[in-house]
Amino acid sequence: MEQLSPSLINLFIIVFGLVIGSFLNVVIYRLPRERSIVRPPSACAKCHEPIAWHENIPLISFLILRGRCSQCDHKISVRYPLVEALTAFLFLLTWRGTGLDVAQFRNWFFVSIGIAITCSDLDFRIIPDELSLGGWVIGALTAYWDGRNEFWPLILASLLGFGAFFAFGLIYEKITGRSGLGGGDVKFMGTIGVFLGFAGIWSTLMISSILGSGIGLAYGYWQKRKEGTEHEGALLRSAIPFGPFLVFGALVELIYEVSRWMIH
Ligand SMILES: [Zn+2]
Repeated sequence: MEQLSPSLINLFIIVFGLVIGSFLNVVIYRLPRERSIVRPPSACAKCHEPIAWHENIPLISFLILRGRCSQCDHKISVRYPLVEALTAFLFLLTWRGTGLDVAQFRNWFFVSIGIAITCSDLDFRIIPDELSLGGWVIGALTAYWDGRNEFWPLILASLLGFGAFFAFGLIYEKITGRSGLGGGDVKFMGTIGVFLGFAGIWSTLMISSILGSGIGLAYGYWQKRKEGTEHEGALLRSAIPFGPFLVFGALVELIYEVSRWMIH
């Protein structure tokens, strides 16, 4: 890769990130609805008119079409270009600068499932098994393939993350009498472990619990003011999905590790 100028490499990463982001939009729309992610080709969510290839170029088509379907004028969600831009941005941030090796694939793969999980959890309060457990399998296989003598520590970290969250969920349920963490969150914690190890589990737990409870309390308070009722328990119970906080915590750790690695 040394013969390519850094700006050209960055351009490649941005274009690649936009393309993967475009694919993630398909995954985000179809996986929670249990539809195939390969067939049929993309169509308008309203009029079901197929989208031509030139109307399906990441970011650019949205701007040219001004966010509307060319057939029925239906408004296209601004989240589509946002997901594409965010994917490209995070691909840049997690670029290790050593070329397209296994470690780089792991970074970009984790970013991708993180974005898909965030949207799926926000939309439907579910983390599809295809993303959490499927991601775990890819994480374990690539850890083994990479052969950095980190395979068993990563597997152990994933078991620890899974076990700790599972136990935490049980204790929380015992004390409060209601379920706090979804099964999807617990499985995804295992996925975080197999990609980011013990440090990743620890950072994710810290960041997500502080951020999650802070925003959860603020949301509960706001709801209470709005409704003027006294049922704070019900307000906090699954008031906001926890998956996005886990993703955020894990990505902070990943970006921190990449930057530390780049300085070396
Ligand atoms: Zn349409």
